[in-house]
Amino acid sequence: MQVFMADKKRTLALLGATGSIGTSTLKLVEQFPERFRVTVLTAGRDVSKLIHLARQFHPEHVAIADPAGYASLRDGLEGSGIMVHAGPDAIVGLATHHADITVSAITGLAGLLPTLHAVRRGGIVAVANKESLVTAGAVLLKEAKSAGATILPVDSEHNAIYQAWVDPSAEHVESITLTASGGPFWDSDLEAMRTATPSEAVNHPNWSMGAKISVDSATMMNKGLEVLEAAVLFGLPEDRVRVYIHRHSVIHGMVAYRDGSHLAQFGPADMRVPISYALAWPERLNWNSTPFDLASLPPLEFEHPDNERFPCLEMAREASRRGGLAPTVLNAANEEAVSFFLKEKIGFLDIAALNGHMLDTVNADGEVSMESILEIDQRTRQACSDWLERHNRN
Ligand code: NAD
Ligand code: MG
Repeated sequence: MQVFMADKKRTLALLGATGSIGTSTLKLVEQFPERFRVTVLTAGRDVSKLIHLARQFHPEHVAIADPAGYASLRDGLEGSGIMVHAGPDAIVGLATHHADITVSAITGLAGLLPTLHAVRRGGIVAVANKESLVTAGAVLLKEAKSAGATILPVDSEHNAIYQAWVDPSAEHVESITLTASGGPFWDSDLEAMRTATPSEAVNHPNWSMGAKISVDSATMMNKGLEVLEAAVLFGLPEDRVRVYIHRHSVIHGMVAYRDGSHLAQFGPADMRVPISYALAWPERLNWNSTPFDLASLPPLEFEHPDNERFPCLEMAREASRRGGLAPTVLNAANEEAVSFFLKEKIGFLDIAALNGHMLDTVNADGEVSMESILEIDQRTRQACSDWLERHNRN
């Protein structure tokens, strides 16, 4: 176990610095200049925010995935001494740059190769990018083992389970539980969901997050991806990964032991809680989270998921049972479907329809490797574009 030395600063590479997880990470880091030194910051397209963050945190390197952003990034950081890079390969290159801890907070499968390279480099990799665990979790765990890297889950439910999994022996664990808020449409009927707009879908009741994961929460594909993520991280079949709707997001995750003990992690619905745990692991960061008054909590209520209105969760379980490349097909279909929906090319219920269609029709046979994952990802995205063309014609 790599033990944190209080008198030694941890170097930090933050991939996806301008997003919701990136911003929460930097809010913590700025409170502890004596404990962290940012060495790498990357972003997708938002050059002006990246310049702003680079001027504040003075990393050694910055990279923007969109090559069109290079000139303005370079000009904006002129004279700062910060090295400027652009393009997806540059992000992968910086993921291999030495850092004690890498926070993988890019959204979508675009986060996979950077996460893989950070894992291969060794050290601690705090993974928020669930899409990489869903598609290539087994590969990442294997690579982590051979590189001596530690993968820490940042997703709040998985981080909760990681904290509650106190028994080293898996045979004592009966099941794990992820809670789900139900998203903005839990109380809506199918007719209202059919006409739901992107702004209604991203308006999450409890959490403030990027657009893609917010839509995933509205369809409950987010919980489906999380079942896949949990199954691989904790080495359990999907039927031992339980999901309960818990509207207030007080309890985030739980481990049920065979002796009847149920250890749950609960706390404010604030991503700084799991992020701070990962940043300081195996210690904790005293960042003065809001005091949590038990007496003012709402009653703890739980319900079963509704597979009629939210079929994506069951699709993810099916992909988990099929294994192999099926989760990659579902993930690619979903990324495309969410993107079509946000561009108002399809309706809200079409997201689940497209996901189900791709899971049933794309041939997911074959060995799992990084090459086959990237190949079937591209093939599924192409099939989604073809589907959209037909959909628009009808
Ligand atoms: P976001 O959209 O707010 O931010 C995404 C970040 O990735 C941005 O910095 C963006 O510039 C960068 N990016 C986007 N496309 C890129 C590309 N092609 N190449 C390189 N960089 C790119 O997303 P988020 O809400 O911060 O989520 C990030 C990841 O964390 C997702 O996988 C999400 O599922 C996961 N996650 C987020 C939350 C949350 O509360 N936001 C909670 C749990 C898990
Ligand atoms: Mg989550």
